[in-house]
Amino acid sequence: MTSADLFSMPALATVNGADFATETTFGVINPSTGAVFAQAPAVTPLQLDLVFAAADRAFQMWKRDDEFRRAGLLAAAAAIEAAVEELAPILTAEQGKPLADSRMEFLGAAMWLRYFAELEVPREVIRDDAEGYEEVLRRPMGVVSAITPWNFPITLAMWKIAPALRAGNTIVVKPSPYTPLATLALAKVLRGVLPDGVLNVVTGPDPLGAAMVSHPVPRKVSFTGSTAVGKRVAVAAAEDLKRVTLELGGNDPAIILRDVNVQEVADSLFWSAFANNGQICLAVKRVYAHKDVKQELVEALGEIARKARIDDGMTDGVQLGPINNKPQFERVKDLVRDAVGRGARVVAGGEALDRDGYFYKPTILDGVEDDFRVVDEEQFGPVLPILEFTDESDAIDRANNSEYGLTASVWSADTEHALAVASHIDSGQVSINAHGRGVLPHLPFGGHKWSGVGVENGPWGLHSFTELQVVAGPPRKKN
Ligand code: NAD
Repeated sequence: MTSADLFSMPALATVNGADFATETTFGVINPSTGAVFAQAPAVTPLQLDLVFAAADRAFQMWKRDDEFRRAGLLAAAAAIEAAVEELAPILTAEQGKPLADSRMEFLGAAMWLRYFAELEVPREVIRDDAEGYEEVLRRPMGVVSAITPWNFPITLAMWKIAPALRAGNTIVVKPSPYTPLATLALAKVLRGVLPDGVLNVVTGPDPLGAAMVSHPVPRKVSFTGSTAVGKRVAVAAAEDLKRVTLELGGNDPAIILRDVNVQEVADSLFWSAFANNGQICLAVKRVYAHKDVKQELVEALGEIARKARIDDGMTDGVQLGPINNKPQFERVKDLVRDAVGRGARVVAGGEALDRDGYFYKPTILDGVEDDFRVVDEEQFGPVLPILEFTDESDAIDRANNSEYGLTASVWSADTEHALAVASHIDSGQVSINAHGRGVLPHLPFGGHKWSGVGVENGPWGLHSFTELQVVAGPPRKKN
């Protein structure tokens, strides 16, 4: 299959291993130009009956054979790896990220499939003796409804697809209307690799997302997106006692201790905040730097920001593409305007690029206070406020003073000291001298407080797509 085949107009949903017809389509914008470049199928909430019925039929077969599922996941990984050069440009065109990052996203998805293919779905025999037989099983739930955002459409879909399928469920995935095409293309590549109906992908403008939650067939909703929508998903799922995993927003702090070598850490800290233009749930979103190192850090980050290569994601050597969509572009401008209006100093950036598309210069803000919106709210864009502290316990309090608790980081020349500070941080993950160091297939990822409910990845993520079942009986006959 070539890139041209995958781009072929209009892109089609995959249901039951085949094209799924819709009456209408909706436009997809390339954020590098701000213009519509493709159409995606507008599946309607009413059509979900057909979609979930196909997934439910496939579940009756897919749940039966553990080894078959394992082989299916490995075959899916190989198919993605073979198609990465065709798939990556589609992701860049709709999301904006550099082509190299799009390739990494698909290769990471294959890695996730391979990890889960090897993972055992546990069966634990608790007793098997003259008194009786007791076993604890993990059974699949049925059909999973998966809803993803626009920042990492493939990574975040695969964090759901791989464990859900491994455990024996089937799945219907709905990507964001801003980035429907890469997930549609992924499903097209996996047709014939996975049995029909096991992986279904539908796209459409909202209210399709809400209908994915309220539909009676799925027994589990796995949602990644904003906290505001996540709360609505939790309420709607509760009506039917559907199980939920919610991966939501974050406002991650980085605490820079007094003994840090600024020149050594600046680059890593910068990219922890600005990779994917800051559109990462676990990007560093506020920096608390000790007063002895703060000024040097501000200048070092400013210098890196000014040198960053910003362009269309298809351009060779580009480091940052555009912001993904107009509302997000406007939000970033608004947050910077608000901070500057209240006295913040723009060290670097602070403005959009003078060209079409949603390009915004990576922006470092100094002279910012804790109650500025850019500190309090999740900016989810290329702007980073740097705040100062003198007392470590004050930095910890301010870092924890957030409704969010996704991830955090502590930076110090003394690892033991950093670990001691980290032990006071209330978040789903704390990294030392890096940010998001623990985002790996085998480690649980999830947020405290408003950053989420439950976790993805590792055995913990796999288990979240299962229900426990006890089987108890009289003693079994021994040969
Ligand atoms: P969003 O909440 O606006 O949309 C996410 C998805 O939900 C989209 O597919 C959307 O169509 C769908 N949706 C909209 N209304 C719905 C409803 N009522 N019911 C069900 N689904 C509905 O989020 P976004 O703007 O696409 O993504 C950005 C947000 O996602 C940020 O807050 C970011 O922090 C968060 N995020 C979290 C993680 C994580 O793992 N914790 C990862 C990436 C992004």
